[in-house]
Amino acid sequence: MKRHVLIVGAGIAGCCAAIALARAGWAVSLVEKQTAWQFQSSGIFVYSNGLAQFKALGVMDDMVATGFSIDDGRNVYLNADGSPLLETFYPGRFEGHRLVPILGIRRADMHRVLSAHLQQLDIEIALGCTVERIEHAPDSARALLSDGREVRCDLLLGADGIRSQVRKLLWPQVQPRYSGFGVWRSVHHRPPDLVDKIMMMAPGLRLGIMPISSQQLYLFGTVPEPEGAWYARDDWAALMQSRFSVFQGPAAQFLDSLNPQSEVLYTAVEEVLMPGPWHLGRVLLIGDAAHASTPFMGQGGAMAVQDAVVLGRLLGAEASVESALERFSALRIPACRFVQDVSRQVGVSGAQTDPGEHAKILTAMRATAQQRVDDFYAQLERFSDHTTTGKTS
Ligand SMILES: Cc1cc2nc3c(=O)[nH]c(=O)nc-3n(C[C@H](O)[C@H](O)[C@H](O)COP(=O)(O)OP(=O)(O)OC[C@H]3O[C@@H](n4cnc5c(N)ncnc54)[C@H](O)[C@@H]3O)c2cc1C
Repeated sequence: MKRHVLIVGAGIAGCCAAIALARAGWAVSLVEKQTAWQFQSSGIFVYSNGLAQFKALGVMDDMVATGFSIDDGRNVYLNADGSPLLETFYPGRFEGHRLVPILGIRRADMHRVLSAHLQQLDIEIALGCTVERIEHAPDSARALLSDGREVRCDLLLGADGIRSQVRKLLWPQVQPRYSGFGVWRSVHHRPPDLVDKIMMMAPGLRLGIMPISSQQLYLFGTVPEPEGAWYARDDWAALMQSRFSVFQGPAAQFLDSLNPQSEVLYTAVEEVLMPGPWHLGRVLLIGDAAHASTPFMGQGGAMAVQDAVVLGRLLGAEASVESALERFSALRIPACRFVQDVSRQVGVSGAQTDPGEHAKILTAMRATAQQRVDDFYAQLERFSDHTTTGKTS
């Protein structure tokens, strides 16, 4: 008989884990609290390391066909007035595969691709459903669901994001931590000649521009925001416009066009630093529920997909669940911590509001930016080698 996994949360981590485990021979049930497939939109980047994981799941070609590829991996940095600062190039190779270095894609499109693949597999999906109680034993877990069902399974995955209910039930002491940053995002029509990934820098502020489809691009701006700040949704467009008004050059046309009808999102950025191991009995946390990161490296989604791929490999038909879960934490905690640490450092340096200190940071960036990109991806690849080969460093 097939082993049974109950996955709570159908975000990136949950959908990808459902695909990976169904392919690894498990019976999969997925519960999602939203009543319809309806995902916060704007865009997301996927770099080559994330695309390698999508490739392993068999969904990469559909992602690439849907999003916007930066084929030369070029990341253009500009000063706030639009003058050139520097360029870096992201790698187009990972785990031995030649891949698109940077893909921009609408989040809703990413989920459309994932849900289309879910539908081809024999996966039971319950929308508008959550978990209310969990009992875990060494060899099984039992969940009481909000639709009244009681489900016994061989494994329960908490893939329910930064405010995870599964984590709250079993690890109530672990709380998200505010990073000090807010992120403002907006979606715009893409002029045909805007084909670069652009990062613009000003003291205490960063503003990025990224194509996400043949028709659209998105702006994403980071700025220190006070803890607990709350802004009425109707004001988001005007607030985004005023926060980033210093940016000229290619950003000006998009900031100028913001109005109350614009698609704008504000997010107060939090991190989750869950101590290991990430499982208790047969309950495991994956994705943001276990390791939400600040967004400065654009890697949280890729880490969630890699959790799924690694889990699928470890839980292949013959593996013992206990040893697979032990191994999962041993492999994934160092990689996710590394991403969280680097991302936090990048955020802190970008938050420097003093113009003199900001100028020093830019001088240092000119000298070291490419090396930092290369080192970051080389380190991710080393972690990835461990997951593939089973070495532990
Ligand atoms: C501003 C910002 C920009 C980012 N940009 C990037 C980027 O460019 N590239 C990148 O790789 N990453 C990026 N990230 C990180 C990325 O968005 C996350 O790491 C990723 O979405 C995590 O996926 P997840 O499935 O773990 O969580 P989520 O995407 O949060 O999904 C969780 C799912 O669980 C559901 N759920 C929640 N609670 C329950 C419950 N109690 N019961 C049932 N279901 C539940 C939710 O409705 C949701 O569908 C960014 C993050 C932020 C904040």
